[in-house]
Amino acid sequence: MKIAILPGDGIGTEIVAQAVRVLHALELKIETETALVGGAAYEAHGHPLPDSTLQLARAADAILFGAVGDWKYDQLERALRPEQAILGLRKQLGLFANLRPALCYPQLTHASSLKPELVAGLDILIIRELTGDIYFGQPRGRRTAVDGHFPGADEAFDTMRYSRPEIERIAHVAFQAARKRSKKVTSVDKANVLETFQFWKDVVTEVHAQYPDVELQHMYVDNAAMQLVKAPKSFDVLVTGNMFGDILSDEAAMLTGSIGMLPSASLDRSNKGLYEPSHGSAPDIAGRDLANPLATILSVAMMLRYSLDQAAAADRIESAVQAVLTAGLRTADIWSQGTTKIGTRAMGDAVVAEITGKAITTKT
Ligand code: NAD
Repeated sequence: MKIAILPGDGIGTEIVAQAVRVLHALELKIETETALVGGAAYEAHGHPLPDSTLQLARAADAILFGAVGDWKYDQLERALRPEQAILGLRKQLGLFANLRPALCYPQLTHASSLKPELVAGLDILIIRELTGDIYFGQPRGRRTAVDGHFPGADEAFDTMRYSRPEIERIAHVAFQAARKRSKKVTSVDKANVLETFQFWKDVVTEVHAQYPDVELQHMYVDNAAMQLVKAPKSFDVLVTGNMFGDILSDEAAMLTGSIGMLPSASLDRSNKGLYEPSHGSAPDIAGRDLANPLATILSVAMMLRYSLDQAAAADRIESAVQAVLTAGLRTADIWSQGTTKIGTRAMGDAVVAEITGKAITTKT
């Protein structure tokens, strides 16, 4: 098995370093090869997704990705900005299904911004369509308005669009995932206003006919945003388009305490995947040993489970993370009174020590 390691920018390099240590601690027959991506690749090769990086990603069995981006690149033309690398990888590799489990660990209920009783036991799977919608729709651009409220003024525009096959395949992913959980799917749309999302709702309803054992609920995105903070445990599998999924999955992240805890998988039709934390490159804390590496470490567990058929190894990582949290070890983002604050590297050390059986567990 070969894994492409793409650390990227900012905290990406710090958290991926810890995740790779955890991967190697499992002593599986896995080969890794590292390449530049994002701002780091732009600096070295003049492009955020150089051909050599794309080829490595294509050839690998799975990809471990850190994060890309830095405010210093905000003035670059869009095609050269670091974020284009992740959009390009998703598009080029056909990674259309983004799976983001939002799981509230019992040890972290107090780190959530919601009341502990609202989030205790929370276990949602957000499935976001990743290669369509307004993020990729053409045409897009700037022009002089010929109509609207201000004819003759400068304006910008994007195109929201979804084709039937795009909606069908993500709906299948959602219904199949629900069959392995509590058999309930909430499809989130804006069918009351947007033609694209009336079509989304119609197609999801049609696909549902093939899954009579799964309950399907439709919900408008504004209501979904509200219900996620009012009654998050009422959701099980939530499926939605690219833009709504982008926003709702970050909202769900905060329910669990910190975005630094949330792994994600982006899968193609044959379950080849790119695995990354749900957060970005956090330039505000980069290089200071402050970042929480657990989302990336848990992304390795997802990779072993979904793409590499190594469920037992995935279990070992998840158990090690649980043990470290139970021992009271916390990075700053999830720290609370009575627990021990540690840095990125020490968190990696602690997970590796649990996996190799060398942990000195200090319960607090
Ligand atoms: P961000 O996710 O990087 O950070 C948001 C906040 O969460 C910050 O306060 C940050 O310090 C904190 N945070 C994030 N990850 C953390 C971790 N592991 N441990 C502790 N705290 C953590 O989002 P942003 O600040 O809006 O964006 C920063 C850059 O990241 C931008 O250039 C953006 O485009 C990019 N970005 C990249 C990806 C990606 O690579 N997939 C995703 C989102 C944002």
